[in-house]
Amino acid sequence: MIITLGNFIDGRTCAAQSGSYLDVVEPASAAVYARCPSSAAADVASAVAAARCAAPAWAATPSAERARVLNRLADLIETDIETFAAAESRDSGKPLSLARSVDIPRAIANLRFFAAAATQFASEAHPMADGTINYTVRAPLGVVGCISPWNLPLYLFTWKIAPALAAGNAVIAKPSEVTPFTAFLLGELCNRAGLPPGVLNIVHGLGTDVGHALVEHAEVKAISFTGSTRVGASIATIAAPKFKKLSLELGGKNATLIFADAPRAGLIDTILRSAFSNQGQICLCGSRILIERSYYAEFRDEFVARAKALRVGDPNDADSDLGAIVSQAHYEKVLGCIALARAEGGNVLCGGEAVKLTGRCADGWFIAPTVIENLAPQCRSNREEIFGPVVTLQAFDSDADAIANANATEYGLAASVWTTDLQRAHHIAAKLETGIVWINCWMLRDLRTPFGGVKHSGVGREGGWEAMRFFTEPKNVCVFLGE
Ligand code: NAD
Repeated sequence: MIITLGNFIDGRTCAAQSGSYLDVVEPASAAVYARCPSSAAADVASAVAAARCAAPAWAATPSAERARVLNRLADLIETDIETFAAAESRDSGKPLSLARSVDIPRAIANLRFFAAAATQFASEAHPMADGTINYTVRAPLGVVGCISPWNLPLYLFTWKIAPALAAGNAVIAKPSEVTPFTAFLLGELCNRAGLPPGVLNIVHGLGTDVGHALVEHAEVKAISFTGSTRVGASIATIAAPKFKKLSLELGGKNATLIFADAPRAGLIDTILRSAFSNQGQICLCGSRILIERSYYAEFRDEFVARAKALRVGDPNDADSDLGAIVSQAHYEKVLGCIALARAEGGNVLCGGEAVKLTGRCADGWFIAPTVIENLAPQCRSNREEIFGPVVTLQAFDSDADAIANANATEYGLAASVWTTDLQRAHHIAAKLETGIVWINCWMLRDLRTPFGGVKHSGVGREGGWEAMRFFTEPKNVCVFLGE
């Protein structure tokens, strides 16, 4: 039976006005199992109209009440965490264990974190010695748009809508058409959570239809976008002459710098996670592994042996380390990148091919963890984002060599540095052209800290007060007290 998903507009679940739908496909089996509305500009216009009506009252709602509603939404998801995890895994191909342990708990944490932030984010006052007082009010923007990708569907969806709602905005959210399911499920809980109609509207459909209309709409004051650098650039082109606020979280080609004195405990385990978690489809995955030459051969041999032992399998199986690639188009893209790496002279040490499973997964899109060496830093395979289970290994001879290689890409999202020499680690962190640096760890996140990239990895920061500032406009008022 095909499940029909709906938009969530003005507190009601509804079809697209055109009545048309897009197929939703399970990557592990290549079977169509649901359909989501193929919405267009008219649906975005309805959502914006509902949001405009709802925005003033939501902005005037005490922050403690906004926090209560966000916490209630988090509670409702938590009560039904198995349904959400199963839907996320089925929709995206990620292992069920990952959806259950990371994606959905983090979505719940996002809602709770920004519920707390709503009550703590305050306007500021600065009395001055000359008898004046300055105060700065941070008002919500009104109606804002949130556009999210397929790799961490509910995790990134809530990472955007939670601060937008906490700050008092009405939201039009557009999930990826590739993975619409959990956003739909969240929409179904909004009325029970006590979110007034029109405060959160979820419009499904293609980026070129719904996303484009959202960016174009004059009443949408800001766009928070996470996705590819190509689409981010096109959004910036449209938004700039309209003077919209923009937050762009884009692609990455992250370097992992491993020195010979790297702490060995947990090293290979963490680098494997950094390389292959979610089939390498996390913007923070370390896809270029740079190793000090004296440790290169030892690291390579152990890393490749461990990568070969990872199990690619049905996302529902508890012992699958990697699940399916999200779509046929992306599967073909990743296989094309591997072919390019071979053509560029890369030596494939393991993987490098599709994995054919049997049974219900016989037609699914699976790729073996792939490790490639012998590629020059400047080649396309080392510069362009692959966003799959594919990593390259390169040796370096000095700190300067490692830094230059790490920075030799147009991207600048994240890096990790592995050494027991903390002075060297801080020195290198300062020189890396990235928004995030991990030292002797990977993807440990504190939601209070700024998150985002430099260069072609994005503009602006999310997380903590950065997100609350993005979703508000400051107004400074200076009062002369007449003394
Ligand atoms: P994508 O750019 O194709 O799509 C992202 C979202 O934008 C989707 O909802 C899509 O429908 C929408 N969209 C597409 N065209 C649009 C248009 N013309 N106007 C407005 N919206 C449009 O990205 P994707 O393939 O879904 O996601 C993978 C990419 O996301 C990778 O490049 C990855 O690095 C990046 N990503 C970045 C971060 C980060 O925090 N920096 C996090 C996750 C993913």
